[in-house]
Amino acid sequence: QQRSVDVRAGAYRANYDLLTGLPNRYHFSRRLRELIEESQREQSDFAIFFMDIDHFKHLNDQLGQGAGDVILTEFSARLEMAAKSTDLVARISGDEFVYVAHEVDDVIKADLLADKLKKQLQQPIEFAGQQHFLTLSMGIAMYPIDGDDAPALLYHSDQAMYAAKRAGRNRHFFFNEGMREQADSYLLIHQDLLRGLEAGEFELYYQPVLNVETENVDICEALIRWNHPKNGLVMPDKFIPVAERTGAIREIGNWAFSQACRDIRSFSEGDINVKIAINHSISEYYSTRAFERWKRILSENFVTGDRFIFEIPEALLMDKKSVRMNVVTAMRKMGVQFAIDDFGTGHSAINYLRNYPADILKIDSSLIQGMKNNPKDRTLVEVVLTLAKSLGKVVVAEGVETQAVAEQLKELDCHYLQGNWLLEPKPINRLIPYLHQHMFELEERTSHS
Ligand code: C2E
Ligand code: MG
Repeated sequence: QQRSVDVRAGAYRANYDLLTGLPNRYHFSRRLRELIEESQREQSDFAIFFMDIDHFKHLNDQLGQGAGDVILTEFSARLEMAAKSTDLVARISGDEFVYVAHEVDDVIKADLLADKLKKQLQQPIEFAGQQHFLTLSMGIAMYPIDGDDAPALLYHSDQAMYAAKRAGRNRHFFFNEGMREQADSYLLIHQDLLRGLEAGEFELYYQPVLNVETENVDICEALIRWNHPKNGLVMPDKFIPVAERTGAIREIGNWAFSQACRDIRSFSEGDINVKIAINHSISEYYSTRAFERWKRILSENFVTGDRFIFEIPEALLMDKKSVRMNVVTAMRKMGVQFAIDDFGTGHSAINYLRNYPADILKIDSSLIQGMKNNPKDRTLVEVVLTLAKSLGKVVVAEGVETQAVAEQLKELDCHYLQGNWLLEPKPINRLIPYLHQHMFELEERTSHS
């Protein structure tokens, strides 16, 4: 009995720092290696923050070691409070701590988190009836661009911390300082995006998708637009990539989904029965909370999941074991269909295709537009169609611009056609009259035939 207690105590001492109870450098390095393996599998990025309390030695000398211990213990407790369950924290040595933020996959998010951490950690600490003010110097390295193994990441974040000290302490530096400029400019757009959402400057346009067999419009794709007070109509390519990197994509995605739910009701009131296809970025699938959020939006709007198609990049489905896949599975149980957007452009993995939990493939417009002049593109489209059909998938051709291409695709038995040839994306109040007209003409044609 005694022996096993000793062994356990020994194991504890080997892994944890006795003063603060935080993992020590040894234990941390092991956990970091595990996290790197997991991130390789998940193809996810993360940030490591190396922190050092400014002038700690001075405080220790001035106030005595007891005070130093109080500061370190209090600091560690705050660090643990600030950390999420998936984050790693450790005391590396003396007054040096590290924090690894699992979900922080981008410099801009890291920049925001560094500010937040400083606020939480730099509250004054009381000792012997006196308040002591702390500041921190912080160095940030990003996995994998700043290092793809544990020693490199530790070393580089440490170096960045030293640079922050040299620059006058009480600040954070990135290992790659070129990133700061980018972070600054992105931050401005980020703030403008949040302001624009608050001010109601976003709008969903819709583009009809034609069912070739029935000639009905069964689906409309929602495409976001930003009516910017200064810059006019801003297209998604200008702001979605930034939003993906700053994390604002979540707010934008929530807004778009809620708006689409309201629009479903407007369509129904106009006797139009369509599914809405919504575009999603991979970063919207990072946590299982995405599912809870979408489920809540559906129920708040009294709309069911079967009114929606979620368009996602193929890469989202490539790793079967990821959290992202759980979110997809859960949404499918709610009746949502999934479509792979821009199929044929990335590293389309034909051998995976069979197992993808997606019912629809959208062939990328670059292939469709190439069909006109490039026989290779035409062959590729044919191959994708044959393959998709044999696997029971529905195929949508996007970016159809001319009657000639539409005819070619009909000959190839493509299920759905979408593009400016039919109609450019329009605000809902202009789309509804178009759809009424379309239904009217279709009825006329069928009654005369
Ligand atoms: P996407 O999903 O591939 O959307 C198709 C794009 O092709 C749209 O551009 C559409 O306006 C355009 N398009 C449609 N027909 C034609 C055509 O015949 N010829 C040509 N040349 N283009 C055509 P848009 O609206 O600028 O959207 C760009 C991308 O932004 C979308 O590509 C989608 O990936 C993304 N996006 C749009 N809305 C959202 C959103 O709400 N959330 C997210 N995460 N992404 C969005
Ligand atoms: Mg799309």
